[in-house]
Amino acid sequence: MSRILVVEDERHLADGLRFNLEADDHEVDLADTGEDALRLLTEQPRRYDLVVLDVMLPGINGFEVTAELRRQQLYVPVLILTARGRSDDVLSGFGAGADDYLTKPFELPIFLSRVRGLLRRHEWFRLDVQNQPGPATPPLSAFAFGDKVIDFEQLEVRVGERRMPLTLMEAALLRYFVENEGKPVARKTILDRVWNVHEDTDTRAIDNFVVRIRRYIEDEPARPRHLQTVRGVGYRFVANPELVPGAPLQV
Ligand code: CA
Repeated sequence: MSRILVVEDERHLADGLRFNLEADDHEVDLADTGEDALRLLTEQPRRYDLVVLDVMLPGINGFEVTAELRRQQLYVPVLILTARGRSDDVLSGFGAGADDYLTKPFELPIFLSRVRGLLRRHEWFRLDVQNQPGPATPPLSAFAFGDKVIDFEQLEVRVGERRMPLTLMEAALLRYFVENEGKPVARKTILDRVWNVHEDTDTRAIDNFVVRIRRYIEDEPARPRHLQTVRGVGYRFVANPELVPGAPLQV
């Protein structure tokens, strides 16, 4: 059973989310301000498996809560609920370190599928970290290329002495790229395999993640060599671009 913190100041919405999450076999706590949520999340950092976080709250907003969690190096998955659905909102959410977002109003099955997707990924990483028996091919714990190391256990990218923490979703996306090294992967496939989202969704979310990931793994993020754009398709991760003669470098 997973424990979820729902942060929502509109009581009827909070109660509705709790009812449906409990019906889906999760344990749920409610908070109605960002300050309360931060207190609960920092007092017992391992208590929650997921935070469902409204943006518009009295006091500090959902983006500020997310940014503060990440500042304190707390990487509990965060699903942001944004009422406005503006692209700059979505950008702010991912910029603050959210793992996924939904625009209000949303349909319940979509909400529950996002929740399940984030929880599954969380569980997967945790099992990985504990080194328990897993699938036949154990997931990579780290991947090194050039002067960079992606550490999937510590959730960070290391370049020399620099350490850049990753959110769960950034790590999941990087892992998917690494597992498909050299192959073009479509945005729709990424949504399906990494986000566990099957319905038609705005694929800009992926592009935003790619922009962030390039800042971690590219020497010149504006001229990516490792995480290449494949026009009309999606992206391709190449560990050693110098070994791929004539590889198109498209931005
Ligand atoms: Ca609200």
